[in-house]
Amino acid sequence: MSSMPTFHFTVDCRKPGSHVYHMTLAIQNLPQGKHTLTLPVWTPGAYEVQDFARHLFDLTVEVDGKAVETYHLTKNQWGFDTYQDGAQVTVQYQVYAFLLGVDTSHMDQSHAYFNGAQLFFLVDQYKEQPADVSIQAPPGWHVSTGLDMVDANPFHYRASNYDVLIDSPAEIGTHRVITFMVDQKPHHLAIWGHGNEDADKLARDLEAIVKAQRDLFGGLPYDHYTFILHLTDRGTGGLEHLNSTTCGTARFAYRPRKKYRRALQLFSHEFFHLWNVKRIHPEMLGPFDYNREVYTHLLWAMEGFTDYFADLTLRHSGLFSTKEYLENLADNIKAYEKKPGRLVQSLAESSFDTWIKLYKPDEDSPNRTISYYLKGDLVGSCLDLEIRHRTQSQYGLDEVLRRLYTRYGQHQVGFPESVYQETVEEVAGSSFEDFFKDYINGTTPIPFETFLGYAGLTLERTYKNPEAEEDDQAETKTTAKPLPWLGVDAALADNRALVVKVSYADGPAADLLNAGDHILAINGYQVATDTELKDRITLDHNIGDPVEVTVFRRGKLETISVVLSAAPPDEMKVVPLEAADDSQKTLYKAWLRADWEPAKK
Ligand SMILES: [Zn+2]
Repeated sequence: MSSMPTFHFTVDCRKPGSHVYHMTLAIQNLPQGKHTLTLPVWTPGAYEVQDFARHLFDLTVEVDGKAVETYHLTKNQWGFDTYQDGAQVTVQYQVYAFLLGVDTSHMDQSHAYFNGAQLFFLVDQYKEQPADVSIQAPPGWHVSTGLDMVDANPFHYRASNYDVLIDSPAEIGTHRVITFMVDQKPHHLAIWGHGNEDADKLARDLEAIVKAQRDLFGGLPYDHYTFILHLTDRGTGGLEHLNSTTCGTARFAYRPRKKYRRALQLFSHEFFHLWNVKRIHPEMLGPFDYNREVYTHLLWAMEGFTDYFADLTLRHSGLFSTKEYLENLADNIKAYEKKPGRLVQSLAESSFDTWIKLYKPDEDSPNRTISYYLKGDLVGSCLDLEIRHRTQSQYGLDEVLRRLYTRYGQHQVGFPESVYQETVEEVAGSSFEDFFKDYINGTTPIPFETFLGYAGLTLERTYKNPEAEEDDQAETKTTAKPLPWLGVDAALADNRALVVKVSYADGPAADLLNAGDHILAINGYQVATDTELKDRITLDHNIGDPVEVTVFRRGKLETISVVLSAAPPDEMKVVPLEAADDSQKTLYKAWLRADWEPAKK
């Protein structure tokens, strides 16, 4: 008779000022033979090899009470031997944790936060075995995590398998916790830090997000959910988990409304992930290989569509007005059309190469790559509008996600990549071969006016009027006349130098000005800020004018002649067509849950 080994981790964070977790792993009943301890090199949701083992030190192993030799197998794996069945093994190690991010671990005098991928070893191939986690914290500290509590002990938790263990970060400290119920299920908002947030309002808004997304899928697939929120000096983004998320925003990201909208988008995005990517995902995205990069062509559907539905469900919940929703859409179109990389890299390639491109950007990235978040979000809206148009508003993209969820997500299995297009075609009842070829596997520019037209909308592309006065009417703040353009983005660097950040491949200075050039003067006159540079170009010159740009390039003074070209539109608006027919109005209403209205005269 043999039974499976058991695993019990103890996470000791009682010396938070040391930034070191003291870890103990107690294993019961390990069979005789060679064993391997593996620490992940990446954490799901952040597609970047981070080599967490670089923070681990002081590893020791005892078998049946006696210290044994460990041998280092690879950068993230250690081996040891047992000489009889039923061995009791104690593994001790320490992990330095002072990287503040949603996908890293951090500990200081004020709290301890960890991601499982940095702390928890996988033993051999026992991925399906449950693991217990005990937490030893300073007096007065409490724990917030998505893990299930054991024996009503708030410092003892259990993960049903290794994937769940890795997928359940914990916030430990004196943080505030606000709890609200949806469908009799507790939702905890755990906030570390302070800023200009209204925590009670935030909890109410999160409740509205939970309800809107529950309505889209028809239920909540967990017993409890935890939002961990870090309020710090800068935003650190968000990371999704099975029944929790960690979001890091700037402390003062909650007022005014425009900033708060971005915070709501982040929470809505991460919550939507509990379906899209955590449960609805291609085969490569779970169960995971933690030892190396995993490749998928579908991150546009996992991340871009999550962005799309994050905004759409904010609209459906009433947290965004239609005006705000369409403003965000227009801003995204503007950002997409500004990037020459949209004509170079497809969404499928952008997904596949995320490990070496999106997660490792450089100064040329806008010219050669396109974000699967940005374009994926836009393709999500176009695909949704196309499905609604072809099905006379009977179905939308949400129906595709529901079917994938019912067939795969609920059964915790990934789907083969070809299933995505097949499911779209099944819902719409017609071929999407060209759509996928053009906008997902190819780089055909997206004809937004066509898709928006289905909903009685169109795009207006204009320019900020450089002559506009403060108190001008809205119409005169923009102009239809293209502005002259130098073709670079420049910004003040640390030493107050105005430095080229991007030289656009489709701009007039593509072969002339380089990222890193320190701009000193235009036509012999100093320009000290990016606003001054833009004013000199747009107010004092015309398209076709040559200008002399004086720069320091690697410390050498150079003067370079650039002939100004026409700038891409810098004002973009989604506006109603002059008139819409019944099918357009019906589609608009099914899509945005509001009545189509003609433009105000
Ligand atoms: Zn995401």
